[in-house]
Amino acid sequence: MIYLDNNATTPLDPAVVEKMSQFLKEDFGNPSSLYPIGRAVKDIINEGRETIAKALGASRTEIVFTGSGTESDNFAIRGVLDAFPEKDEIIISAIEHPAVLRTADYLEKKRIKVTYVPVDEFGTIDVDFFKDAITPRTAIISIMHANNEIGTIQPIETVSKIAKEKGVLIHTDAVQTFGKIDVDVNRLGIDLLSTSAHKIYGPKGVGALYIRKGTKISPLIYGGHQEREMRAGTENTIGIVGFGEAVRVLRERGDKDKKRIEKLAEKLKKGIEEKIPKVKFNGHDKKRIKGTINFSYLNLEAEAILLALATKEIYVSTGSACSEGAEEVSHVLSAIGLKPEVARSSIRMSLGRFNTEEDIDTVLGELPEIVEKLRQISALEIEED
Ligand code: PLP
Repeated sequence: MIYLDNNATTPLDPAVVEKMSQFLKEDFGNPSSLYPIGRAVKDIINEGRETIAKALGASRTEIVFTGSGTESDNFAIRGVLDAFPEKDEIIISAIEHPAVLRTADYLEKKRIKVTYVPVDEFGTIDVDFFKDAITPRTAIISIMHANNEIGTIQPIETVSKIAKEKGVLIHTDAVQTFGKIDVDVNRLGIDLLSTSAHKIYGPKGVGALYIRKGTKISPLIYGGHQEREMRAGTENTIGIVGFGEAVRVLRERGDKDKKRIEKLAEKLKKGIEEKIPKVKFNGHDKKRIKGTINFSYLNLEAEAILLALATKEIYVSTGSACSEGAEEVSHVLSAIGLKPEVARSSIRMSLGRFNTEEDIDTVLGELPEIVEKLRQISALEIEED
């Protein structure tokens, strides 16, 4: 099988499997218990917390474990709004993940004003927009670090500066950047940052929210004393162990994966452009998480390509996993100006640690033929601009 959907999720790293298996066999104590087997688990959790904090340039007490990247996003936005009852406005980008967009929809129903920052044709936000958009009633700005569908990296440092000048808190969803590019909370200048373990070769169902020391935010879940009373409930110990190990492996591997993935992705991108006519690349050529390659294949339905590739055991995506199967056109591709029929012809390939040169050669061998055959039977005629 050739797995090119690493932005949706990643396979577990063998070291993570090993660490989690060992933990499952040996440790079952409740980390809140005061006797040794409970304390031992608490120590293991805090070791994971320390590893993750270090990787982000943060301190251990600034990391709260959550159930997912989605939960971290919800927590950041709703928690801050809750802590500032006198404020009733938020600012997000038009191309956020549904974890932020749907939260904003919910808040709009609760009479919170949501302002959407537009993006250009490459998916980069308009930073000038903030000057007028921020008001004394703005509680938080939430802009994703990089987009999951097209990979465009946003100028978070610039937005942070603007937010600081205006005294507004800033959150970034770094689910797609952590482990791929440098994510340092101080360099980025953000107050809150979301991550998720299953995008970095860790387990599903565990994420983390970085909360800068001193940030005013209300708890997400009330109950016991866990997670400094910010997210009560007995911890997902096994998940946290896997998350910590996944980050340890990331740090150990350093830039090795990054360079290799970039090289493979460049080969794939060039190959598609050279071998397949009538394709349109979506995203920023340079400011992009390079392993994300999104192309529109004019005159085709993306699902037909996806299914044809799947028969060859090549797995790709038509966009974000969360909107897979949905009828509507990708909000990201619409926001960068694609016509609905062009957006519907788009395939995302996202590379990861376990992809090989052979994978890319196979895809470049199969895809042109698939596209050509499908075009022969396609009734769609899309006008080119
Ligand atoms: N934010 C972004 C940018 C994502 O790509 C994803 C997952 O696709 C999420 C949030 C949600 O993370 P999780 O699957 O851990 O809920």
